[in-house]
This record gives sequence, structure tokens and C-alpha cells, in this order.
Amino acid sequence: MNQPLLYNRQPPRPAWGVRVDPRKTLSTSEPIVAAPLPTQVQLPLELGPERRAQAVVAPGDYVYTGQPVARLETGARNVVCASISGRVAAIRPGPIPGPGPRVAECIVIDSDGQDRRHADCVPAGDPARLAAARLRELIAQAGIVGLGGAVFPTADKLGGSQPVDLLIVNGAECEPYISCDEMLMRERAAQVLDGARIMLRALGCDRAVVAVESDMPAARLALRAALDADRDPRLDIAEVTAKYPAGGERQLVELLTGREVPAGGLPRDVGIVCQNVATAAAVSELFRTGCPLISRIVTVTGGGILNPVNVEARLGAPLADLVAAAGGYTTTNCDLVMGGPMMGMALAGDRLPVTEATNCLLVAAPGELSDAQPGYPCIRCAECSRVCPARLLPQELLVACDTQDPDRLEQLHLDACIECGCCDYVCPSRLTLTPVFAQAKIRQRAHREQQRQARLAQQRSEARNARLAAAEKRYADGPAPDAGEAALTDLLARVEQRDERGDGG
Ligand code: SF4
Ligand code: SF4
Repeated sequence: MNQPLLYNRQPPRPAWGVRVDPRKTLSTSEPIVAAPLPTQVQLPLELGPERRAQAVVAPGDYVYTGQPVARLETGARNVVCASISGRVAAIRPGPIPGPGPRVAECIVIDSDGQDRRHADCVPAGDPARLAAARLRELIAQAGIVGLGGAVFPTADKLGGSQPVDLLIVNGAECEPYISCDEMLMRERAAQVLDGARIMLRALGCDRAVVAVESDMPAARLALRAALDADRDPRLDIAEVTAKYPAGGERQLVELLTGREVPAGGLPRDVGIVCQNVATAAAVSELFRTGCPLISRIVTVTGGGILNPVNVEARLGAPLADLVAAAGGYTTTNCDLVMGGPMMGMALAGDRLPVTEATNCLLVAAPGELSDAQPGYPCIRCAECSRVCPARLLPQELLVACDTQDPDRLEQLHLDACIECGCCDYVCPSRLTLTPVFAQAKIRQRAHREQQRQARLAQQRSEARNARLAAAEKRYADGPAPDAGEAALTDLLARVEQRDERGDGG
């Protein structure tokens, strides 16, 4: 008997979210192009929140493409691989993309122009025969992380003890302008499915569905053709309405399965794991060619770019190389954004390196993105709560942020805000709510940490007082005969008895 489907192949249009001008066709008319080999790469050792690596190479060392060059600070696992061959020029702090000016320790490699592969870059064997734990270990050592933007370690997502009955391979790239996942599915659909199959094995799960948006007909057709050729009954396609932010992990899980990821939880808590389509392709690449994660596809687009296109670039390459591969700038005073216009972050310049999180370089011509305009008081129209995909009350949250009321922010579930920007987008008073919420989330985390430290200090103080009270009581009660004293008394008694008997034995 066929098992009932765990997901809806064509879920209804969500009530939340906004319909934004997708502007994806700007960069989808040309196939993916490979950026020229960079002359230098800069590989950050800061891998994400609370995840740091330390170099296992030194300046002057020769490294091959794909050679491990850094391992996790907390463990022996290699997680950063050289993306080109050449000499390590330096290990020093360098600017990296991120909110505001950010600097991190980086390994700088000067290319020798040869792109010589490391001898270990060979397939580890048929993934269908490797144990799940071995698959996860190889994925971790290859430095593969979520390429949808979150850069969460893929192997960690595939591990864990909670049972999983569905893998969602997320190709529902909903943010305007970004088309790297769509182009990947169009050009490398079989690779995406192959990666999905390997991840199913690593998860111990037997159902995967690739989610695409309704405005990606070419990607859907390519996937369908690959599925027909593949004939693996465990794999399927689902189509979600093109509405921002339907491709958000939580939103996608809910749309496809009706399961609600608990606040502060993960899809795994409801039996689901989500992986991006580019992550699936990277996993396939690792097991078919032995190549770890050394490159990614980046959408280089916007009115400030001459020939918007998707560029396959080595990790650590300067963004300026990608701009050159897309024909260069159309004008001098452009705004650079990493990501899309809704959730992207402004960049200080194009000398920053491509990282695993760089899904898009948006080069906006003057006036292309909406400028910040003065806001007006909230008129309580509730438009923001109507579109909020996290079902929050943004207008109430704004008041709690203004009054810096941590308890109220907790009650209103500030942490569930995914910073999607939908509330800003619809607000008739032109209030900028999302940056306020993002800042409040940082403050709220600091507040919670303070509370945790205060609780720990109180527990320590209470434990100390209890110890002191016990010591005082012992002192007041007088010394108790200890075991050694009792043993000595017993021995003397036995000697006395022997002497009385006069047996000498
Ligand atoms: S959309 Fe703007 S004006 Fe309307 S309730 Fe929300 S914050 Fe207030
Ligand atoms: S930014 Fe936060 S509050 Fe605003 S719509 Fe998105 S999830 Fe809701």
C-alpha cells in the first residue's frame, strides 16, 4: 500500500507575505559563467556565529586546491579548504562581508595560476555503500555548509537523534533579484537530485521533495526531466506560490507540510530537515569528484551592472572579480548589497571576499532601491501583522522596543521575527520596523545572558552559604569521632584482650 504523502505538492497561496517585483529575469537570460581564477583569495577563519577555525598552514607554505588549511577551534575537524593552489601569503585580519564593517582573521593565498588539485581530492567511494556517519564526516571535512545564506554546517543538520521523515530541498528562492538557485536547478538538476539522495542516506530518511517557486517554470521542467530519468520513487517536486518569503525555512515547512516549527526550535523538531539546492549540489560534487567546497554560484545583478549574470566564483575571491565577470559597473556611485533588497546587507566595497553566504551581489544604481524616507506615527492599520509570516504583532513589538521592555518583548515573541522586512514593505506610515527588531533581538540576547549569569551567581552564592552553614554546625556540634580514631580504639582493645589471654598470637 502506498504511504500517504507527507507534503502538499501544490500548497495554497499563503495569507502572509508580500508580492514583490521579482526582477530575477535580469540575470537569467545567460547561462552560469565561471569567473576567471583569482590571483589571490582571502579565506576567513570566522565561519559563523560562535564557529571559528584555526589555520593548519603557515605563511610561505605551498597549498593545493582542495587542501585543508584550517580546522575547527573546538575539535580536530578540518573545515576550510584552499580554493586555489599557490603560496600562503599571510594569516592576518582582513575585512569580511557582514552587517557593518567587520574584520576577521583570514588565510591569504597567492595563486600560482595552476589550480593544482590536492592528491586527496578523489571520490571516497560509492556513497550508496558508505555508512551514514561516514557520509556526514566526509561532508563536514569538505567544509560544506548551507549555501542558502545561513551557512549552518550541513553535516550537523544531517546528524542528530530526532527521527526525520522528510528532507526538503529548498529551491524556493523568494527574495527579489537572486537567481543562483534557479539557474543551478535549470543547469544541474541531476546533480541536485543526486545530492538529495546522498543526504537521504546520511539522514536515514526515505523521502525528499525539491521545492520550487511557481515562477520558475524552466527549473521545474529541468527537475521533472531529471526525475523521469532517475526514477527514484523517494524523490519528488513541489511548487509553492511565488510570494515573499515563501522560501524561508520555517515558512516552507509550514506551507508544504502544515507542521509548525516551534519558536526557538528547528524543523528537525517536527521531523523535517531543510537543505538548500546548492548545498545538495555541493554534496554530489564531493562524492562524485572528491572536490570539497571551494566555490559557489553568485548572482551578480542590479541596475549598476552591465551584464547581470550568475557567476561561479572561488571562495575568497574579491567581489570585484565577479563585477568584472559581469561586464563591470554602469555607473560609479552604486550601492553594493550582499543578498537581496529585502534581507541583504549593505557592503562597504568590492574588495571583500566571496564567502559561503554570498548568494547575490546586488549592485543598485542610484534610486534603484527605495531610499529611507521620514516615517510618520503608526496609524494602527494592522497591515504589518496581516503580512507577517511569523504571525507577530509588529506594531506592538515596535512599542515594546521603544520602551525597551524585555518582558513584553518576550511575551510578543520577538525572537520569532525572521527579519524579512514585510512589515516595512507594507507600512503606510513608512516606519522602518525590521532594523529596530534586529537591534532589539541583539539586546534581548544580551539581557538573557545577563539574567543567566545573575542566576548562576545566585546559585553559587546559595551553595557557598549552605557549605558555610554546614561547617558552622559541625563546629558547634564538636568533633565527631572519625573512622581512623575508631579503628585505633578497636586495635588497642584487641591488644589488651590478647595480653590478658597471654597467647602472644
Ligand atoms: S503597518 Fe505601520 S502604521 Fe500600520 S499598524 Fe503596522 S506599524 Fe502601524
Ligand atoms: S520583519 Fe519580523 S515582524 Fe516584520 S514581518 Fe518579518 S517576521 Fe514579521
